[in-house]
Amino acid sequence: MMCVCRGMDQLPADQVQRYVEAHLTEMDRDPETWVIVYECPRTGVRWLGDFPHSQMHGGGPMRLRTFTTVSRAIWSHLFLVRQLLEDDPTAVSEASDLRLRLEVRYPGTDPTAD
Ligand SMILES: [Zn+2]
Repeated sequence: MMCVCRGMDQLPADQVQRYVEAHLTEMDRDPETWVIVYECPRTGVRWLGDFPHSQMHGGGPMRLRTFTTVSRAIWSHLFLVRQLLEDDPTAVSEASDLRLRLEVRYPGTDPTAD
């Protein structure tokens, strides 16, 4: 199986199962959230599998995204704290700190950079 871990940030739904089984190593599985952490044995790139359509029969298809992609999504949502909690400067400041830490750990997270 060809490694696309450095070239892609999300796999099409119909390729997820095959890629996971043939290429990735399962590192962790959270029985409560059904989130699964995978690692590419060749590049060390980490992937997060989750089930966003949990209302579907059997939990629906697994979504597979790299950690950086997930970090980018969280970054964008934390950005909205400024609007959602506009009268709470502590919350806005904490959200800002978290965005900074995500960007440090997962470079390329901040979509407004460069
Ligand atoms: Zn790989």
